[in-house]
Amino acid sequence: MPRPILATIHVDSMKHNLAVAKAKSPGAKAWGVVKAHGYGHGLERAMRGFADADGLALIEFDNAVKLREMGWKKPILLLEGFFGPADLHTMAGYELQAAVHCNQQLEWLEAAQDQLAARGIRFDLHLKMNTGMNRLGFMPDAFAAAHARLSAIRCVGSITMMTHFANADDVDHPLLPIREQIRRFERGTAGLPGARSLSNSAGVLLHQELKNDWIRPGIMLYGGTPGGGSAEEFGLQATMTLSSEIIGVQDIAAGELVGYGSRFRAEGQMRVGVVACGYADGYPRVAPLGTPVLVDGVRTRLVGRVSMDMLTVDLTDLPQARIGSPVVLWGRGLPIDEVAEQAGTIGYELMCALAPRVPVVEG
Ligand SMILES: *Cc1c(COP(=O)(O)O)cnc(C)c1O
Repeated sequence: MPRPILATIHVDSMKHNLAVAKAKSPGAKAWGVVKAHGYGHGLERAMRGFADADGLALIEFDNAVKLREMGWKKPILLLEGFFGPADLHTMAGYELQAAVHCNQQLEWLEAAQDQLAARGIRFDLHLKMNTGMNRLGFMPDAFAAAHARLSAIRCVGSITMMTHFANADDVDHPLLPIREQIRRFERGTAGLPGARSLSNSAGVLLHQELKNDWIRPGIMLYGGTPGGGSAEEFGLQATMTLSSEIIGVQDIAAGELVGYGSRFRAEGQMRVGVVACGYADGYPRVAPLGTPVLVDGVRTRLVGRVSMDMLTVDLTDLPQARIGSPVVLWGRGLPIDEVAEQAGTIGYELMCALAPRVPVVEG
């Protein structure tokens, strides 16, 4: 019998969540964001789950090519742009769109334009504005000039204007509220033609006032939320359930210590269940005492330190639990956001960190 750990991917729920994103953004087209192997769900599954998306967006060139090889015919967008002049030939060969965020990329396009235009290549590009994240993008004051320079390049087709908000999940951020980021975007794009793409999941869920031609939801498609409400409140369904089983039980006396570092001390007589799941499976080692875990569908708590291959849970109030009892670490019945919050991180990180040794099935 294999070790009982398993990740179940719910492709139907991925379809459902995409429908939620589209319903919240009437009139806008939707990129399904599938970077990082579909946030850990698998690229091919993400492609099927988001078959109804108007395009797929990601970061990795090799996976963009894979999407084409797997038969994806609709648009593909490279959100981080191209990393060198050679990438332009991959973009041409596989009909890939890309973000343009800096002058260096404009120079590469200018240098290659005669050759590409002669082959009839026209790239659909997404000019990115830095509205305060200070990661990628042109400053608002430099945006119109970049737009003019990009428009003049002969191998350029359409130009969409895009930005990515630093704080779409925190409406009243004291230092950089979203209304200030929107103001910068409006100022920088004033009078410029073309489609607009502003909203990630937080934008879609929390800022329906934003005018998008293309939304770029990621985490919400995977049943996680960027904050501002629970998945259930937003009508989102879990798409990844990480499950395992109890593989050992210890009845211990008051005062006994559990796990590495002996960090947990039993206050009274208790039953401890050992679960075949550890940080080498992607469960966060930093998850503290009390992090929720489902055993036989009932919520209990993590006790002791998470180790590489195992973690321990409190079975004192679950007398029926025994070796073989089913355990859910996150997913259906236990929102990933709740586990992430306990561990001081976000659902995104837990999904993306699902370890390659965990077998994956669909269901
Ligand atoms: C990852 C990413 C998204 C999706 O963000 P979520 O918070 O997961 O919805 C959207 N736009 C860009 C540029 C991204 O890199």
